[in-house]
Amino acid sequence: MKKRIIVQGRLNDDQLAELSEHFELLEPLGSFDLSDAGVRETLSQVHGIVGASLPVTPEFLGAAPNLEVIATVSVGYDTVPVDELTRRGILLCNTPDVLTETTADTGFALIMATARRMVELATWVKAGAWEAGVGTELYGSDVHGKTLGLVGFGRIGQAVARRGALGFNMKVLYSNASPKPEVERELGAERRELDQLLSEADFVCLTVPLTEETEKLIGANELEKMKSSAILVNIARGKVVDEGALIDALERGVIKGAGLDVFENEPLGDTSPLPGMANVVALPHIGSATHETRTAMAQRAVDNMRLALIGERPLSPVNDEVLK
Ligand code: NAP
Repeated sequence: MKKRIIVQGRLNDDQLAELSEHFELLEPLGSFDLSDAGVRETLSQVHGIVGASLPVTPEFLGAAPNLEVIATVSVGYDTVPVDELTRRGILLCNTPDVLTETTADTGFALIMATARRMVELATWVKAGAWEAGVGTELYGSDVHGKTLGLVGFGRIGQAVARRGALGFNMKVLYSNASPKPEVERELGAERRELDQLLSEADFVCLTVPLTEETEKLIGANELEKMKSSAILVNIARGKVVDEGALIDALERGVIKGAGLDVFENEPLGDTSPLPGMANVVALPHIGSATHETRTAMAQRAVDNMRLALIGERPLSPVNDEVLK
């Protein structure tokens, strides 16, 4: 009997065909409502799930007693209770590396767009307001030669740092769980305690995973430590920042601006003041959203699922212990 999988999310035809060579593809879940008999019926049969931002709860797992593998189409897995999966012997795989450079591009684009007020001024031009040369009130801030602080210095943090150090002659500071001596040598990066980094950096870019330790890592106290001329860029997860405190800091001029790809609640909806603020560039969580990268991420998830369910080592397991 072929093992059964569901694909919650976009794979291209070749990727779906590849999976259906090995597995029976069940209809994707229309919702994650466990009171729905159809959802429970599908979950009761499934051996593998491919998808992104899956709302995996203990109840969800309880309804899927045959589940062996979850292949998330993302590098972050903060919506998945990894310890609970491990306890149940369920393997989680993610998609590191293939999205690193694209997400770093997004981070640097946010640095540039926010510092040089590109969205605000492009909107101004579109509205027909450009009638004379711009005055000082519309000037931005330089990026080159400034100090870039990375909070989280893993794959994506280091890739943003490379852009800053090698392309924009920036001084790089980082705050990270462990030291990264090789990258210090490569880029002249210097490790700092978080508070010190916040007080020295002109641009603070968040690239830590969302965990219990990093939830609301940047709150009112941390924002107060930043320079009033500094810009905060978040390409990690919205909940790494206390969003209420950020809105307050932006309104009061505690910091100069923010470039945000991620938010506490997504989609943002029409109640948040952030997209309407002149000193904010808000993007709809597009860190990795290019054709090339999303295809590569989906392929990594397909490869992970295929290998794991046929009993071989997947390319990027998260909870390795399950394989032992
Ligand atoms: P990574 O290589 O694992 O890097 C994460 C870094 O954070 C690691 O260097 C880790 O330290 C450090 N870290 C973890 N917990 C920490 C803590 N409590 N304090 C200080 N440092 C801590 O991951 P990545 O591939 O760069 O991805 C990072 C995150 O970016 C993902 O988890 C995801 O949430 C987010 N992301 C967002 C998008 C988007 O669309 N906006 C796209 C991709 C990823 P060690 O090196 O010591 O372990």
